[in-house]
Amino acid sequence: MSTYFEDLSLSEPILRALNEEKYETPTAIQRAAIPELLAGRDLLATARTGTGKTAAFALPILQRLNQTRTKKRRGIRCLILTPTRELALQVEDSLRRYGRHLPIRTAVILGGVPQSTQIKALKRKPDILVATPGRLIDLRDQGFVRLEKAEMLVLDEADRMLDMGFVRDVRRIVSELPHDRQTMFFSATMSPDVIRLAADMLQDPAEVAVSPPASTSETVTQQVLFVRRTNKLALLTMILKEHAMERTLVFTRTKHRADRLMRHLAREGISADSIHSNKTQKARQKALAAFDRGEIKVLVATDIVARGIDVLGISHVVNYEMPNDPESYVHRIGRTARAGADGIAVSLCDSEEVKMLKEIERLTNDTIVTVDDHPFHSDLIASLRLDRPATRRPSLRRRARPRRPVARRVR
Ligand code: AMP
Repeated sequence: MSTYFEDLSLSEPILRALNEEKYETPTAIQRAAIPELLAGRDLLATARTGTGKTAAFALPILQRLNQTRTKKRRGIRCLILTPTRELALQVEDSLRRYGRHLPIRTAVILGGVPQSTQIKALKRKPDILVATPGRLIDLRDQGFVRLEKAEMLVLDEADRMLDMGFVRDVRRIVSELPHDRQTMFFSATMSPDVIRLAADMLQDPAEVAVSPPASTSETVTQQVLFVRRTNKLALLTMILKEHAMERTLVFTRTKHRADRLMRHLAREGISADSIHSNKTQKARQKALAAFDRGEIKVLVATDIVARGIDVLGISHVVNYEMPNDPESYVHRIGRTARAGADGIAVSLCDSEEVKMLKEIERLTNDTIVTVDDHPFHSDLIASLRLDRPATRRPSLRRRARPRRPVARRVR
């Protein structure tokens, strides 16, 4: 397998952009997917965010569109569907960065913001359109989007697309695209529903899987603290104050609780903001940017927006409440330890959440280590997890570990 981008038959303008991005070597998914996609094959990829999957599809798309570009060939030639607005913006940003030396135009359309600028962008005849399904259908119905020239389709985070109830919209959109096209299908997990959708869209795809489905990154240290629900607030405040947690993402199950928690932390003198689907796009971007710049140390989020959070250097993920399903746990903790860095995921688990903890361990095949040297530890709750007694007393400090290339995680 190729170790360098230069070995992947990428053109000079793309290699130059990657050099400027300071990408030294391709990640596992990039090594596996790029040659297949440059050869024009369909792709079925099992990959989480954080694996470099965006460049894995973006680079071959840019290269192929550029190679076959002619004056006559105008209109949307590639459609990229994403489940969330944040992800759509990030994908378009990546396309612009990787394609900065190529004459390829991109546009992004998403809900929650006025249509007018998006309509203007569509009138400039982009080659690549990144879109969330709802707004795409709206604008298509109004006659602003024509998809009959699309030669390429990417379905990003297909499992989340299904979770969010977009499957009918996606099927409708796909049914309007030319049958003769290249399709790239990405999903973090491969449930039977996801596989059915993939089977209907792909033709003889190359299959690539980086790390087994629903696996957690080896570079994330996972810890659980058993605590009564009424003590969670005090425990979280204590942890945040006592440990050097530079950039912490805290998860709650509801938007209401995310806001309440954020207000409580602010009252305790901890710089925090919240991000969830009730907030406007602008407010979400603002909170993310402040978090990225280190102006706020804690960002409280709900699961639905978690996918869009691509902030490097998240030191800790705290599950203030366990998620509703084990797959969400994998997505949550995947926000730390991105691009090979180390990270710590801490779960505050009350008596009713022990069942979920066990499901998570079953799915990921990982042992989540108990931390019991804190004043709110509940032996009673810990005992509900009979098969895994507390054996170690690790610290919440980040371990100094050599950077491990993502490539090691290939199956
Ligand atoms: P993704 O999985 O596409 O969300 O990418 C995760 C992060 O890794 C993003 O911040 C990318 O900019 C970064 N990244 C992607 N490919 C590489 C690479 N080959 N070398 C270094 N960083 C990368």
